[in-house]
Amino acid sequence: MNFISTRNPSPAATLSQAIAAGLAPDGGLYVPERMPPARELQAGADLAETAAALLQPFFAGDGLEGELPAICREAFDFPAPLVPLATPGDHVLELFHGPTAAFKDFGARFLAACLARLRRDAVAPLTILVATSGDTGAAVAAAFHRQPGLRVVVLYPDGRVSPRQAHQLGCFGDNVAALRVAGSFDDCQALVKRALNDADLQARAPLSSANSISLGRLLPQTSYYADAALRHHAATGRALNFVVPTGNLGNALAAILARALGVPLGRIVLATNANAVLPDYFGGGDYAPRASVATLANAMDVGAPSNFERLRWLYRGDDAQLRAAFTAHGVDDAVIREVIARRFRDHGEVFCPHTATAVKVLEDLRAQGEGGDWAVAATAHPAKFESVVEPLIGRALEVPPALAALLARPARADPIPADYAALQERLLA
Ligand SMILES: *Cc1c(COP(=O)(O)O)cnc(C)c1O
Repeated sequence: MNFISTRNPSPAATLSQAIAAGLAPDGGLYVPERMPPARELQAGADLAETAAALLQPFFAGDGLEGELPAICREAFDFPAPLVPLATPGDHVLELFHGPTAAFKDFGARFLAACLARLRRDAVAPLTILVATSGDTGAAVAAAFHRQPGLRVVVLYPDGRVSPRQAHQLGCFGDNVAALRVAGSFDDCQALVKRALNDADLQARAPLSSANSISLGRLLPQTSYYADAALRHHAATGRALNFVVPTGNLGNALAAILARALGVPLGRIVLATNANAVLPDYFGGGDYAPRASVATLANAMDVGAPSNFERLRWLYRGDDAQLRAAFTAHGVDDAVIREVIARRFRDHGEVFCPHTATAVKVLEDLRAQGEGGDWAVAATAHPAKFESVVEPLIGRALEVPPALAALLARPARADPIPADYAALQERLLA
């Protein structure tokens, strides 16, 4: 299968080329030339096996095709269990059992497994440039740490990530550098986009991205939806509906793609924080990207969701059809706090602030009489956001062992202004 830009049908790229490049040369996002048709799917023995079967059509004819099972084994070496909640019919899909305790570990590890194979014979090291509002950078740093032929430069908005997130970004060293930018996440993302589109710079220091615009991250994220929904369907005969906490639309788009591939998913509903670009659009307004505002669910502080262009492509640019297919609901900080405190008090359930937005949206759907089986994508472990969660539940959270190991290492990040020349200088140093 070949891949094209959301903006121009040519030139087409192979999957390997698209994964290595990150962004298409015209600044668009890579999408499959055509979506593989929906087919009858079955869960494999484990997540890695489900993933390899699901992703096979995208890899058909590519140099990596024969390695897909090994790539999946390497990337998906931790589980994504579907766990029932106290309220009947409700579940969480726990996506936080990887090395940095957030769902981005899946995509980052898959991308690293692909790139390590693609760069096996390369002479110059490839720099992975990442803008992060918190979780992406840590997942990418962990996945690429000490991978030969690859280095990572992470940009994050100084003071806008949690102390534990900041620590995770700075704790790797070796081939991983952390830069704290005096600006917002959108500033970081703009700097990265500019560098990736800078042919001059690329000629001197080959760059690639690992943001959720990368196909190497987006495609594997379909796997955990497939694994959970196929198992649920086999056990109950019913489709699983999802509420997905959403920022750049990478995780939600993966659910939408999984459904298009034939996975028995029902409705897919988007939950956002106070950044309302998607609720406004799906509520009937124009798509109006804007500056992001800082919230408790900081990995979703996005004013211009980068995967929106892909979602529109999937619906052939038909806004009316797209608006009819999904709803998006904003949840502000006061409600996030209320949900975290109440669900712990009433049911002993603990959610991270991102997951809490989706829990609230599911509560509202149920209150409106929504039936069926639902799951919330639990995108991070609550212990990653202890400064928010612990005061609300009035007790300390146990840190998962992998995260504890990272937090025990020393950390350092260098400050830079939100200025392109400063980034260029760093990349060429
Ligand atoms: C990145 C992230 C999100 C948002 O995911 P997108 O793919 O950007 O929509 C939600 N929750 C957590 C914990 C995250 O790290």
